[in-house]
Amino acid sequence: MMIQDLENNERFSTDYLNTAPKKGDFAAIFKTVEREILMDTAADGSMLLPDATEFADYWFDPDDADADKKAAEKGGRLVYLFTITETSFYTFIYMGDVTPDFSFTGMEFRPFNFDILPVPRKVFFGAETAFQLAGWLHDNRHCGRCGAPMTVHPKMRCVRCTECKNMVFPRINPTVIIAPVHDDKILMIRYRGREEDGYAGTALIAGFVEIGETIEDAVKREVMEESGLVATNIRYYKSQPWGFGANLIFGAFCDIEGSAEINIHDTNEIAEAAWLTRDEIHKKYNGVSITNEMVARFKFGEDFENHLGE
Ligand SMILES: [Zn+2]
Repeated sequence: MMIQDLENNERFSTDYLNTAPKKGDFAAIFKTVEREILMDTAADGSMLLPDATEFADYWFDPDDADADKKAAEKGGRLVYLFTITETSFYTFIYMGDVTPDFSFTGMEFRPFNFDILPVPRKVFFGAETAFQLAGWLHDNRHCGRCGAPMTVHPKMRCVRCTECKNMVFPRINPTVIIAPVHDDKILMIRYRGREEDGYAGTALIAGFVEIGETIEDAVKREVMEESGLVATNIRYYKSQPWGFGANLIFGAFCDIEGSAEINIHDTNEIAEAAWLTRDEIHKKYNGVSITNEMVARFKFGEDFENHLGE
């Protein structure tokens, strides 16, 4: 299980409804550069987002040609993102010179990270995916081709230039996560700058797919860079959308060809790498990230889903 595997048969939909907010919908509002989200927590630590209808004053009809002009006078506009089952998610695009005051929600901007309990899954995964889209909207307020203002397309999840009609769609960055397995051990690493994570059981080899590469090429290159080993028999596992980095992560297991002796090439990025036995893995299976699930899959075997929290 990963964070996008929702409870109660809830389903993420990419349908672009672009309807006005109704009671029960969520407003996922960010300071994207600071990576902060307007939120609160319930007594049990679960994540609370403001109801989207609280921002009705910032909602404009998608077909209103003057919507951006009106929004700029108020400091921005509420925009539709996506729907999970019956619940739609919206975010806020800051516009004009006015700084909008969201204190009417009774909520505050807080750092958006895993210090926040990732529950309910629908709310956390929705917020994470909204963060990806909010960052994309923030970074595409002007056209990269001609420099004119962009506007939200009324019928598609894209922004369109008000002058040259250039269309820009959400960017998804493909990445790979790799678990080499050899001699009944799994190769785990520790990144520099994450010393607070402690050692074993924190991370797997990972990296971006580069221009001109296949997923398999990226797997082989990353394994070589981060461990000096030759990946072979690459076995696709699962994928995970990861809104924090606008990633689509491809998870794979692989074997090692030749020597299994670790020799880190990329010492700027990687502090340590080690072959760990099942008993040496201390990271608990928490059902959030693909890394965590792959480690659990190795540690507990095929019935790993029965070991949540262990
Ligand atoms: Zn343009």
